[in-house]
Amino acid sequence: MKISALIASIFAAAVAHSLSAQAQEKVLNLYSARHYQTDEALYANFTRQTGIKINRIEAKEDELLERIRNEGAKSPADIFITVDAARLAKADDLGLFAPVQSKILEHRIPIHLRSPDWFAFSTRARVIIVNRDLVKVEDAQNYEDLAKAKLKGKVCSRSGSHPYNLSLMSALIAHLGETRAEEWARGVVANFARPPKGGDTDQIKSVAAGECGVAVSNTYYLARLLRSEKAEDRKLMEKITIIWPNQKSFGAHINISGGGMLKTAPNKDSAQRFLEYLVSDEAQRYFADGNNEWPSVPAVTVKNSALDAMGKFKADELPIATLAKNAPAAQRIYDRVGWK
Ligand code: FE
Repeated sequence: MKISALIASIFAAAVAHSLSAQAQEKVLNLYSARHYQTDEALYANFTRQTGIKINRIEAKEDELLERIRNEGAKSPADIFITVDAARLAKADDLGLFAPVQSKILEHRIPIHLRSPDWFAFSTRARVIIVNRDLVKVEDAQNYEDLAKAKLKGKVCSRSGSHPYNLSLMSALIAHLGETRAEEWARGVVANFARPPKGGDTDQIKSVAAGECGVAVSNTYYLARLLRSEKAEDRKLMEKITIIWPNQKSFGAHINISGGGMLKTAPNKDSAQRFLEYLVSDEAQRYFADGNNEWPSVPAVTVKNSALDAMGKFKADELPIATLAKNAPAAQRIYDRVGWK
C-alpha cells in the first residue's frame, strides 16, 4: 500500500469511528417554555443519571408551538414542555404528541393530571385576591361572587383570551354548565373597574394600589412577590388577602405545567426516560419549586416558604383534559360577553 492510500484508509476509519461515536452519544432535544434557576440542576441530574445530553431550546410558550408546527416532520424536538392545559391540548389537537405508555408515569401522576399524550409535572392554583380596604373578604369567597352586584366597579382582570382565563372558564363551564358560566362572565364584565389589561402581576399591583378591590391570580405570581428580595414587592403583598376559592364546592381551579413526547421525536427512548425522570422525587422538587408551584406527584413535598404561608386548600380535581376540551366554548363565551 502506498503511503497516501494508507493515510486515506486511516482517515476513513477515523471518520467512521467518530460517526459511530456520534450515533452512540445519546441526546434529547427539549423545547421548553420554562427557564428558572433550578432548571440547570434539573437537567444536569438527568444527564448524570442517564448519560443523555440535553439540547435545550427555550422560547415563549406559543412561539415554541409555532416552531414545532413549522418544522413539521423534520423537527428535532423530542419533548415539548409548556404551561397551561389549554396550550398542551392545542398541541395535542394538532396531532403533535405521541402517546406514551409508561407504568411509572401512570403510577406517579394522578389520573386527573394526565392524558394519554401529555402529563402535568406541576400545578398552580388560580386564586381570588382582595384589597381588604375595598372589599370584604366574605364577599369574595367563590368565583361566582366576582359576578355579584356587591362587587360593582371593583373587579380587575387580564384578557379573557389569555389561556389562564380560558382554563378558568373551561372549569366553570364544567361545573356550572354553559348557560350559567356565560351569565357569570357577563356579570364579571359588568363589575370591571377598568377594561382588561396586563398580566397577573399587574392585577396584583392594581389591587394593592386600590385601583380595584378584587382580581384573580395564579399562585406562583403571589409567591414570587412574597419571597421577593425587594421590600416594595413584599409591601404589595401586605395589602392583599389571598382567598382559596370555592372551598365549600368544587375547590380552587388548578392549572398545570406539563409536556409530552412529540410524534416526530428522533430520540424516543431518551424522551421516554426524560418524562419518567421528571416524576422522580428529586426532579419533581426542582421542577415545582423553580416556579413556586406544587409537584404533580402527590407523595412529593416541597419546602417553599411562600407556598407554606398560603396554607392548605381544596383543589378542583376536574380532569385537565376537560379544561382543554372546553377551551373553544370558553373563548366563545368571552367573545359574546365582551371580556376582551
Ligand atoms: Fe404565568
